Amino acid sequence: MVRHVNRGAVARKGDLPTKVCVTCQRPFTWRRKWERVWEEVKYCSDKCRSNKITPV
Ligand SMILES: [Zn+2]
Repeated sequence: MVRHVNRGAVARKGDLPTKVCVTCQRPFTWRRKWERVWEEVKYCSDKCRSNKITPV
């Protein structure tokens, strides 16, 4: 048996993974609509996606 160490990525409620939105810097939880693109998801919502911060 291998012990899985998942530092910082352990979901508190349920087993859903979370990420931090690059726009609003808030954590958001995995959603079913992202199940195939979760690796690429960077924004918590379409609003944040269209509101992305441009580098200064
Ligand atoms: Zn956001």
